[in-house]
Amino acid sequence: MKPDVEKAASRPCSTADLIDRLKRIVGANNVLDDASGMEGFLREPRDLFKGKAVCVARPGSTREVAAVLALCSETATPVTPQGGNTGLVGGQIPAAGGEAIVLWLGRMQALREIDPASNTMTVEAGMTLARAQAEADRAGRLFPLSLASQGSCTIGGNLAANAGGTGVLAYGAARDLVNGLEVVLADGRILSDLSKLKKDNTGYDLKHLFIGSEGTLGIITAAVLKLFPKPRAIETAFIGLASPAKALALLGLARDFVGNEVTAFELVPRIGLEFVLKHAAGARNPLSAPHAWHVLLELSSQSEEGLAGRLLALLESAAESGVIEDAVVAASLDQRQAFWTLRELLSEVQRFEGGSIKHDVSVPIADVPVFLEEIERAVSAAMPGARMVAFGHLGDGNIHCNVSQPIGADRGAFLARWDEINAIVHAIVAAHRGSISAEHGIGQLKRDLLPQVKDKVAMELMRAIKHTIDPKGILNPGKVL
Ligand SMILES: Cc1cc2nc3c(=O)[nH]c(=O)nc-3n(C[C@H](O)[C@H](O)[C@H](O)COP(=O)(O)OP(=O)(O)OC[C@H]3O[C@@H](n4cnc5c(N)ncnc54)[C@H](O)[C@@H]3O)c2cc1C
Repeated sequence: MKPDVEKAASRPCSTADLIDRLKRIVGANNVLDDASGMEGFLREPRDLFKGKAVCVARPGSTREVAAVLALCSETATPVTPQGGNTGLVGGQIPAAGGEAIVLWLGRMQALREIDPASNTMTVEAGMTLARAQAEADRAGRLFPLSLASQGSCTIGGNLAANAGGTGVLAYGAARDLVNGLEVVLADGRILSDLSKLKKDNTGYDLKHLFIGSEGTLGIITAAVLKLFPKPRAIETAFIGLASPAKALALLGLARDFVGNEVTAFELVPRIGLEFVLKHAAGARNPLSAPHAWHVLLELSSQSEEGLAGRLLALLESAAESGVIEDAVVAASLDQRQAFWTLRELLSEVQRFEGGSIKHDVSVPIADVPVFLEEIERAVSAAMPGARMVAFGHLGDGNIHCNVSQPIGADRGAFLARWDEINAIVHAIVAAHRGSISAEHGIGQLKRDLLPQVKDKVAMELMRAIKHTIDPKGILNPGKVL
């Protein structure tokens, strides 16, 4: 359902006028309206989503963003915010109608302040995640959000999408890593809440409305991020085991042995590892024999001493009790990176095996083994030969249940069954009271699915909030709602 749009209050404006006024706000060089300049902003790298736009505006300050939004509000011009363009659900790509402007935040990269005593860092929205991590590191701190896309994705995009990644188990998702936010509203007003406070119970915590709203409620221009002590010791193991049930048992054992020192727990299926070994140059299996499943386990500690011993004790106990079949501990930084590369390439290499129908779902952690058995059975029954590549953040109950096409199948015919396979998987997700979007968001991809799975009252509230904050419906229309 489309949000209400109060067009009556808007003044029409010709395209030429709009572009001219945008140029006066952000500078002529920072408005792109030619096809070649705009191309990279109108399609995402996998080519799953393509759009059109009047132009791309590239503001350099919060004031410029505010002026652009005031103009867009006045003229009822839709605005699609974009950061690193790595989103996987098409939220950053404007609609095909071509009426929107793309608002690219990539010029706003300043580190406004770093405060190690308060454990906070105030950064602008266009800073890449990798740079935010590096700035924290330089100050002797850790910013723990970690995604394979971190070289390109931006803090603004991370917060707008409430990104997850591999650090959620220990530190939480993007939402949990923010103390304060600066947001430009649809009418150009600036909500300035760059608070460093850990405790502040003065009414509604508005930042959480904007985090995860995928650019539909406001433009995030800066944030106060939480920093953490830098671990002094990190140990990483690549482990072979028989089943997701054994992996879950290992997670329980690891927590018993080392508690909060478990900072990553990633599930890797045999078929996924085989795809990586086949298609990624230089990749090799650290274990000497094949296993049905694997876990990439990482422990981190503030103490330089003892972590390696605790990991070995855990692995010995797990082997003795039949939980694991084999394990290798990274002996160097390079080997640790090699383990992570095997995990990080799992998604990318699926394209070499033909079409892949993706699912980013979560269920209660205890349900993961049964859930995986159920979807494997149901998908195989519907499409014999389909190859389930289920991998990811077992410690968060978030598994990417991607389905690769049967060997030799026609790619187009396989992908034409996307909705049917989605429906099979999502029905099982619903039976486990899980989520159809654990970390990637709704965007365009799952917009029509949302009302089918979300509580009716929750949908009504979301629409009411959207209407209150963005009455003209100019912020990223066609996404989420
Ligand atoms: C290889 C790869 C691995 C990935 N791994 C993970 C993963 O492990 N976990 C995970 O959660 N995601 C993952 N992603 C998805 C993606 O990287 C994240 O969603 C990331 O947070 C998007 O950041 P971005 O700057 O690229 O945002 P974009 O793609 O540009 O935008 C994403 C959404 O945020 C909105 N937006 C962008 N900037 C702003 C802003 N300043 N204000 C308001 N709205 C804004 C856009 O309109 C869009 O709706 C992965 C993607 C790739 C390509």
